[in-house]
Amino acid sequence: MAVTQRGAAIERLASREFDLLVIGGGIVGAGIAATAARAGLAVALVDKGDFGAGTSTASSKLIHGGLRYLRLGDVRLVREALHERRLLTRVVAPHLIRRLPFLFPLYRNGPYGPATIQAGLVLYGAFARSRLHRLASPERARERVPGLRLDGLRSCGVYADATTHDGRLCLANLRAAEEAGSVVLNYRSSTRPGHGSTSCGDSRTPRHCRRFG
Ligand SMILES: Cc1cc2nc3c(=O)[nH]c(=O)nc-3n(C[C@H](O)[C@H](O)[C@H](O)COP(=O)(O)OP(=O)(O)OC[C@H]3O[C@@H](n4cnc5c(N)ncnc54)[C@H](O)[C@@H]3O)c2cc1C
Repeated sequence: MAVTQRGAAIERLASREFDLLVIGGGIVGAGIAATAARAGLAVALVDKGDFGAGTSTASSKLIHGGLRYLRLGDVRLVREALHERRLLTRVVAPHLIRRLPFLFPLYRNGPYGPATIQAGLVLYGAFARSRLHRLASPERARERVPGLRLDGLRSCGVYADATTHDGRLCLANLRAAEEAGSVVLNYRSSTRPGHGSTSCGDSRTPRHCRRFG
């Protein structure tokens, strides 16, 4: 944020009343602020450090449906995750999501047999509305991954998830929050000194603390 905009944001934070204070500018806080501001609430968001500097820029960067949760029987979770991924990919941030195919080698004496994996992939593919999910022969898989060890390889599961730039996705949500009218400030910590009030101060200069709300 430019210094002049930052000054104006600090001023607004100190002088206005808000319906909602979001503490933390990671992906969760950014998403909440954007959604709440779009719904018409007066929203402020503060982060004691830089935006997205927590786990939201240290993730595996996958937008996945959680194939492994099928093994645990959590079909509802997988279905919901794949539905959200579809929305993210097609509507919310198509410019930030990229399809990522995976190869799942199934070796003799491995924990899973081809029949189990095929059943899981058929279900995962149906929820994802994708036809990629299937088994491939070792030779076919080797064409895609030349370094693949063929010794003991029975078959390979093929499926697709997606990848994103997690930091940019977080910033895109913060921008959306700001465009919808939120006050968004980094390097601003939050404490709750007494009943019914919350104060925010510059976390780089802790002695400077202002009250609002
Ligand atoms: C290795 C790894 C891999 C992952 N892989 C995936 C994946 O593939 N797919 C997936 O969906 N998720 C994945 N996750 C999980 C995902 O990254 C987290 O669920 C997500 O980042 C949590 O976001 P958050 O906003 O809750 O927290 P954070 O990103 O940590 O944000 C919290 C923010 O709050 C701020 N804060 C804390 N206290 C205060 C305070 N008092 N005042 C002001 N600010 C404060 C912090 O500075 C921080 O910026 C992964 C996580 C890890 C670690």
